[in-house]
Amino acid sequence: MLYTGSFKDHRMITWHINDNCNFRCDYCHTWLSSKTQEPIKVSRLSEGLRTLGNDWVFLISGGEPFLEPNFIEICQELTKKHFLALNTNLSLNNIYDFADQVDPERTIFINAAVHIIEREKTDKNLEAYIEKAHYPASFTEEEGEFIRAFDADWPEFALLDEIPSLKGKLCHAGGRFLFRTRNGDLRRCSGIFNKYGNLFENKVIFDVSPKPYPSSNCAALYEGKSNNQKRPAIAIQAN
Ligand code: SF4
Repeated sequence: MLYTGSFKDHRMITWHINDNCNFRCDYCHTWLSSKTQEPIKVSRLSEGLRTLGNDWVFLISGGEPFLEPNFIEICQELTKKHFLALNTNLSLNNIYDFADQVDPERTIFINAAVHIIEREKTDKNLEAYIEKAHYPASFTEEEGEFIRAFDADWPEFALLDEIPSLKGKLCHAGGRFLFRTRNGDLRRCSGIFNKYGNLFENKVIFDVSPKPYPSSNCAALYEGKSNNQKRPAIAIQAN
């Protein structure tokens, strides 16, 4: 099934999969805490996913996700019943394995950030980057239209224009949005540490109705803006 809905309206889990990165961007803190970790067990992931039902969007971020030794396998497992979106620096060669082995109809988007200062250290003219992105030659007209259908500049530009005042407003995070750490812990969002279960323990807790923002300063503005909408959270049906 090709996903044709609006990304921002979808039930989503942002998975902070690791803190490892082969770049050392000076505006980023994740690589400072990088450490070697055990590979993620796909069998445990598979069990945890049964708790969710179908068709969530997993937005995987890090660190650099493609440094996970079994990342292709993880993506294959996720895309059996869910959709995938990635934040990556697109510098590693297993991106080709990803393209060959992961269902493109269940991969909604890949944010391929340039990080120019770090990239030019190893890819002076960005040739390797452009070869991996293969843009725009590899897109058909129809695929181009599909990509344009996403409101790619939302909510980033909305946040640029104005820091939203969220005080007193209801937030759907905890119902249709969750944040997930590497070890499976689920939280309402990246700025709030209350546990909403653990996907590796097959336990997910959903808020049945939207809750007010807990403070006037939302610590996760992107997520806050995305979930600050006046509509009911979507009911979840477990398989
Ligand atoms: S590529 Fe991304 S994760 Fe890696 S150091 Fe730069 S900003 Fe951080």
